[in-house]
Amino acid sequence: MVSPLSLSKKVCVIGAGPSGLVAARELRKEGHSVVVLEQRHDVGGQWLYEPNVDSEDPLGMDTWKRKQMHSHIYRVPEPFRNEVVVVVGNSLSGQDISMELVEVAKEVHLSAKSLNITEGLSKVISKHENLHLHPQIETLQEDGRVVFVDGSWLIADTILHCTGYSYTFPFLDTKGMVAVDDDRVGPLYEHTFPPALAPSLSFVGIPRKIIGFPFFEAQAKWIAQLLSGKRTLPSREEMMRSIEEFYRSRDAAAIPKHYTHDIGDFEYCDRYGDHIGFPHLEEWRKQLCLSALVNADVNLEAYRDSWEDHELLQEALQSPHFTQLGAEDLTF
Ligand SMILES: Cc1cc2nc3c(=O)[nH]c(=O)nc-3n(C[C@H](O)[C@H](O)[C@H](O)COP(=O)(O)OP(=O)(O)OC[C@H]3O[C@@H](n4cnc5c(N)ncnc54)[C@H](O)[C@@H]3O)c2cc1C
Repeated sequence: MVSPLSLSKKVCVIGAGPSGLVAARELRKEGHSVVVLEQRHDVGGQWLYEPNVDSEDPLGMDTWKRKQMHSHIYRVPEPFRNEVVVVVGNSLSGQDISMELVEVAKEVHLSAKSLNITEGLSKVISKHENLHLHPQIETLQEDGRVVFVDGSWLIADTILHCTGYSYTFPFLDTKGMVAVDDDRVGPLYEHTFPPALAPSLSFVGIPRKIIGFPFFEAQAKWIAQLLSGKRTLPSREEMMRSIEEFYRSRDAAAIPKHYTHDIGDFEYCDRYGDHIGFPHLEEWRKQLCLSALVNADVNLEAYRDSWEDHELLQEALQSPHFTQLGAEDLTF
C-alpha cells in the first residue's frame, strides 16, 4: 500500500528488458507514475529473441576483407556451412557458438586468451576433429590469413567475435557526471547511484556475474523508495568515499578496471539488499547457481539437459516464486 505521506514522482524508465520492467513495476507499486521507453518492437531486452537480424556487421578492421561479425548478430550455424571460422573468445558465447558451428562448418578455430580451458571444453575439443584451440590472434592479413601469437596461421572465411558486451549510453548527456571508462560506469554508489545526480538519475542492471533478477528487483525497490522519500541516500561525500574505497579494494585485488562491475559474490547481493530490507538469496538459489556453473565446466555439451541437483530444483519449485504461478507456467 502506498503511504499517504510518500511523494509521487514522474519517472521515465529507459529500456524494457528485465531491469526496466522490474523498475517500472516497483515504481508503480510505490505510487509513482511511470513511462517506459523501449527502442525495439516489444519488451524483454536480451530475452526477446529475434530470428532475423542484419547479417552484416562489419567491424571496421581494414586489412582483413572477409566476413567479420560480433556474436550478437549470430543466430544459427547454417550460414557458416563448409566455412573455416575463427571464433574469438572462449567464454559462454564462444563456447556455445563453437559447439553449434562444428556440426556444419568445415573447421572451427577457437582463439582464447588462455589455453588453460575447462574440462568440459577440453572434452568437446577432443570429440570434434574439426574444432581446434589457438592462442590469441596476432595479426590479420589481406590474403585472409589469421596469424596467432604462437606463429601458427590459417586462412579463414569468417571471424566471429565472441568478446562480450560493453556499456554505452549514447543518449545520456550528464556533462561528464557519469562516464564509461574501460567498461567502468562511474562514479556509481553501489553500482546504482551517481552521487551528483541520484536519485533523479539511477542505473539498474549494471552489475554482472550475479544472480541478476533478484538483484535488479532490489535495485528497483531502493530507487522507488528513495524517490518517494521513504529512504535517503548517504551524503555525496560519503557516497564518493564508498566508491573510492571500492575502487581501491579492486586495485588491491589486482582486478582490472574493465571488470569493475563483475561482482561474483553472493554476500555482496545480501549486503546490497540490507539497505532496504530485501530478503537474502535463498540457499537453494545459490546452490543451484553454483551447481549449474560446475556442471557447465565439467559437462559443457549436456549441462542444460542433464543435471544432478534435482532436489534443489524441487526446493525451488516449493518457493513462492513458483507456487504463485499457474500450472501452465511450469513446463520444463
Ligand atoms: C548473450 C547473453 C546471454 C545471457 N544469458 C543470460 C542467462 O542465461 N541468464 C541470465 O540471468 N542472464 C543472462 N544474460 C544477462 C542479461 O543481460 C540479463 O539477463 C538481462 O537481460 C539484463 O536485463 P537489462 O534489462 O539490464 O538489459 P537488456 O536485457 O539488455 O535490456 C535492455 C533494453 O533496453 C533497450 N534500450 C537500450 N537503449 C535504449 C534506448 N536508448 N531507448 C530505449 N530503449 C533502449 C534495449 O532495446 C533492451 O530492450 C545474458 C546476456 C547476454 C548478452
